[in-house]
Amino acid sequence: MNILVINAGSSSLKYQLLNPDTGDLLAKGLCERIGIDGKFTYKPQIEGKETLSAVDVAMPTHAEAIQAVLDALVDAKNGVIGSMQEIDAVGHRVVHGGEAFNQSVVITDEVLKAIEDCIPLAPLHNPANLTGIRACQKVMPGVPMVAVFDTAFHQTMPAKAYMYALPYAYYETDKVRRYGFHGTSHKYVSGRAAAMLGKKPEELKLVSCHLGNGSSIAAVDCGKSVDTSMGFTPLAGLPMGTRSGDLDAGILQYLMNKYGMGIDEMLNVLNKKSGVEGLSGVSSDFRDLENAAAEGNQRALLAEEKFAYEVKKYVGAYAAAMGGVDAIIFTAGVGENDKGIRAMVCQGLEYMGVKLDAEANNVRGKECVISTADSKVKILLIPTNEELMIAKDTAALTQK
Ligand code: AMP
Repeated sequence: MNILVINAGSSSLKYQLLNPDTGDLLAKGLCERIGIDGKFTYKPQIEGKETLSAVDVAMPTHAEAIQAVLDALVDAKNGVIGSMQEIDAVGHRVVHGGEAFNQSVVITDEVLKAIEDCIPLAPLHNPANLTGIRACQKVMPGVPMVAVFDTAFHQTMPAKAYMYALPYAYYETDKVRRYGFHGTSHKYVSGRAAAMLGKKPEELKLVSCHLGNGSSIAAVDCGKSVDTSMGFTPLAGLPMGTRSGDLDAGILQYLMNKYGMGIDEMLNVLNKKSGVEGLSGVSSDFRDLENAAAEGNQRALLAEEKFAYEVKKYVGAYAAAMGGVDAIIFTAGVGENDKGIRAMVCQGLEYMGVKLDAEANNVRGKECVISTADSKVKILLIPTNEELMIAKDTAALTQK
């Protein structure tokens, strides 16, 4: 079985063709500058097949982009499948499913309408995701399609975790609540954690740390998300590459009044000029921070320390929320690769049974245990694989 996984942005589209049972990747790539000029990248994972890197392909709309993907996949010389019939279904990443979706679903007209209804909650992402779905439906009529939502995994949170202490009408009328994001990743790594520990998900309390350019933490109790750090939008929670994370809302009033900024300008600062980049003045990339800190840049060190400190506070908070923790998971770009940040997060948590093995921690991007043998709380490094999770959900729903 082969599943095509699509992650559509407003002017870009990432794709992977993979086997959901074995996890084998056949090809992956990226369409960029859709609606502008069109650049196409194709990376077949079969030996002897040639890669295409940012070649010019006219892509006035997402439909031409999908067509370019299909043409490459079935190409006589460099393709990885014989014909389109070998694509059994398409799985689409959709950012926001609001309260309408607590799991992945087969896409129908009603589902499209419900995704449309969520546009006010994710005005940048959901329209692009819908464009990707419609383009696929046009180019691949009759092929089953599934929507996999970033928010769905967190729909199990109890009201005390997802409600903001605002007038209740803002929830009832305006749907203002914590939704959480990165759900596909948190679900994937918590499933892998159970497999690694030889336990059922129902037996485990996990703190899942998805630390990348965007970062979020989830408390996963008995296989269900019971709290998460991102909120109504992905701006909340931890400081990130360029996002501020949580802050005192009073700061907005103070800065907007002082500098005559409108709300859009203010949010642009919070989304694009803050986080570890804003704090360090160096970069949003943790590799640059590490190098700068090693050369004595105090603000780069402060940005790393601030980030790790906030992660540590969530670990403690979620252990308290769940009444314990069996394992802490590190995943995504920073979590998988940055041993220094992992060490900073775990340092000082020995009192609660978290003991990092310095030697085992000297590793990158490999599924492994990095705690000491006698650590009560296991520390796990688990490379995330959102595409595989999407492919598995898609296969499960379309095979039924
Ligand atoms: P993601 O959003 O999960 O793709 O993560 C991207 C981020 O991971 C980059 O911006 C870097 O900050 C971080 N990253 C990637 N590789 C490394 C590395 N070798 N060491 C430290 N951080 C890394």
